[in-house]
Amino acid sequence: MTDTCSKPARLGDETSGLVTVRKMEVDKGTTGLWSIQNWPIKIKIPFISFLGVALILVVTVAFFLPYVESRVIESEQKATMQTVDVVFGILEHFNQLELNGVYGRDEAISHARQLIKQLRYRQGDYFWLLDESSQMVLHPLQPNLEGKHLADIESASDRLFYEESLHVALNRSSGFVEHQLTQPDDDTVKMTQSYVKRFKPWGWIVGSDIDLAEVDRVVTGLRLITLAMAAFFAIVTMLVAYLIGQGITHRLIRVIAGLKDVAQGRGHINQSHCMPITSADEIGTLSFEFNVLMDSIKDLGCFRKLIEEDETCSEVYSRLWDVFTDIGLKDAVIYEVDESHNLMKAAYPHQLQASDLHCSPDILDQCGLCKAKRTGHTISSLAFHKVCKQFLHLDEAMEYVCIPMSVGGGIIGVVQFIFDERIKVLDRDLLAKQVDKASQFIKEALPVIESKRLTATLRASTLVDPMTGLHNRRFLQECANNLCSGSQRRGKKIGLLMCDLDFFKQVNDTYGHDVGDSVLKITSEILQNSVRQSDLVVRFGGEEFIIILVDIESDEVMGLAEKIRKQIEATEFPVPGKPPLKKTISIGISVYPDDEDGFWKTLKYADVALYKAKENGRNQSVRFTKEMWEGQEY
Ligand code: GH3
Ligand code: MG
Ligand code: MG
Repeated sequence: MTDTCSKPARLGDETSGLVTVRKMEVDKGTTGLWSIQNWPIKIKIPFISFLGVALILVVTVAFFLPYVESRVIESEQKATMQTVDVVFGILEHFNQLELNGVYGRDEAISHARQLIKQLRYRQGDYFWLLDESSQMVLHPLQPNLEGKHLADIESASDRLFYEESLHVALNRSSGFVEHQLTQPDDDTVKMTQSYVKRFKPWGWIVGSDIDLAEVDRVVTGLRLITLAMAAFFAIVTMLVAYLIGQGITHRLIRVIAGLKDVAQGRGHINQSHCMPITSADEIGTLSFEFNVLMDSIKDLGCFRKLIEEDETCSEVYSRLWDVFTDIGLKDAVIYEVDESHNLMKAAYPHQLQASDLHCSPDILDQCGLCKAKRTGHTISSLAFHKVCKQFLHLDEAMEYVCIPMSVGGGIIGVVQFIFDERIKVLDRDLLAKQVDKASQFIKEALPVIESKRLTATLRASTLVDPMTGLHNRRFLQECANNLCSGSQRRGKKIGLLMCDLDFFKQVNDTYGHDVGDSVLKITSEILQNSVRQSDLVVRFGGEEFIIILVDIESDEVMGLAEKIRKQIEATEFPVPGKPPLKKTISIGISVYPDDEDGFWKTLKYADVALYKAKENGRNQSVRFTKEMWEGQEY
């Protein structure tokens, strides 16, 4: 049996636009009613067992029973020959007495005849005597024949028999003669075989019959018993075979139904798809593996659904991490790759420092050094010892598997699993299985991570000023409340510096916009470098910047503003083909919550102070005071 694929026309390359539609068709060579492999298993198995039983039956009837029959006849013949030998013993005894002169011949014959006449064996079998002149000497059951010549016997069949017996005895000394003998009691005819032997001293032929009907009875009995047993075993075997076939097909049908559900995407994988494992044979194994497959599809489906509802990549990483732990991979690092800047960073667990990593920190600044990232293949030290140069190999017993997170030809991250070989030395197969399973979940998460990263990047781009790389006004609007509540919680203050370049318009007017842009960029860098990492520099408008100094003391703010102002004043802004340009900046200062209890109100006061600085002649930092705003409504 094969399956055929009908594919729609290819669209583009090998992998795009291809949908495989499979139709189940049976190979030409194996079709037809008598193609046994197409029969249902529940019929196939009983049929094969029936064939087996039928074969045994044929062999029994054709070979075994005839063999038994011949053995029974043989044993009957042997028994008859032995009893005839007994009679010969008697004859020899009386012959000896005659020779010894104890009896005369007639007397010896008479004694012997008398004794033989009374001899019986088995159930009434007897001996008859014939002499060589074809006269009947003794017939215990038909005394009327005694003394008669064979030629005078009325029954033709009897006559023929005795003549044949005489012939065999005279020619071969002894032998078997078969004939139909009329029963003297009821005139019935029975098949008889007789053994005849010539006793030369007195010229006698001794004969005794074998009852072939008895042999027939034994053989018929055997035949009946054999047939009855064969029928019984055939029925039992076929019944057992039917039940086995039924058991197999019942479970196979469930597997097929489950696979169809999965293949056609019908409904959810649930408990009904779980196969009971009732045996340890191949079907048991199939059921187990089927359950594993269903579990894995179900788990992957649930996982996918869960991470799709997550908000950030970080949450997805956290769930992946949980999955790794569940699988038994407790030591893992999820690296995020920033392809455009050739960087990578340990994205999960969050708290990892460069010094905590098992790889050289160089990979963080040059992600191309990471072998998994560079090759796009899984890098495993379990397969090749010390396979990656960037792994520090501080501990010889440490092993690692690094799986690249590959989406659309690009690598967006790498998951690294670390193993302590001392513990796992016996469990390499288990490890391979665990890593395989983890890979499935990583694969499932990839599109979600990719889309969340894209969304995050897009969102980030709307919050950043593309020219200076500083956060923009929108970003400030989103984070202002958090800034205030955080500072309130910590009982700290926020210093706000509203900065505006003096006479910036002249730069554009005199040197052009490019020089203006360059001045803005350099100013941004100076501002950014003048504050701590935790502080925030925002490009608020054209040549206006806001610096948010987090957790600062009120008396420190003016000092910082002056430091910035002086640095701008001292900076020489390059102008292509001309002497460098000098600019100044004016700064208005307010402090939250010293001046006001809301962020935007406090910012407004910084703007008021800036206005004052401009008014007072520019190139100065002015701390907001209440008088500057007195009498005016906010
Ligand atoms: P003041 O000392 O009173 O602040 O004078 P000013 O010239 O700096 O102020 P004004 O508001 O009159 O001019 C600001 C100028 O900044 C106007 C605008 O052309 C320029 N500007 C705003 N954004 C950009 C920008 O992105 N690039 C460049 N080159 N110029 C910009
Ligand atoms: Mg301005
Ligand atoms: Mg200005």
